[in-house]
Amino acid sequence: MNTVYLLLGSNMGDSEQMLTVATIMIKKNIGKLITASSIYRTAAWGNEDQPDFLNQIIIISSSLSSITVLNEIFAIEKEMGRVRTIKNAARVIDIDILFFNDEIISTENLTVPHSQIQNRKFVLVPLVEMAPNLQHPVLKKSSLELLNICSDKLIVQKN
Ligand code: ADP
Ligand code: MG
Repeated sequence: MNTVYLLLGSNMGDSEQMLTVATIMIKKNIGKLITASSIYRTAAWGNEDQPDFLNQIIIISSSLSSITVLNEIFAIEKEMGRVRTIKNAARVIDIDILFFNDEIISTENLTVPHSQIQNRKFVLVPLVEMAPNLQHPVLKKSSLELLNICSDKLIVQKN
């Protein structure tokens, strides 16, 4: 079984409902839900005149390969009505793979650990809530250490 950390994000429509629907579809198509973090609210990153983002991390136990998980994520995003437009545009749902076991994956379509974990407080804050001692296999630092040195200034608060 693979332990997969997924980051869910939404800033369009009923975002809380979108996170719930995404989790239901992930449970159906990807694997068993182990735990979910609190939901956090952040001002939109990269394009600040958008609605706030809601983010949540869920940990899944899955028998699928990393590429299959990514393809299932694309299918769920599509089914939930996500239209890919400009970079950092508002979206009903974004699902990113943060970690896949402690594997390091670098292909054209998939980078694991996700390349932006260390740069975004909306990832690190829920990560520290769930797994403060989890070691980043590339940066060789724990979630808590990464949060302590992160320079992201956006305010991340519990929803
Ligand atoms: P973003 O998540 O960066 O806001 P998208 O969801 O549109 O933007 O993803 C862009 C691309 O990122 C996808 O086509 C996917 O192949 C790639 N990608 C690379 N690594 C990952 C990952 N760890 N999780 C999800 N997508 C990834
Ligand atoms: Mg994405």
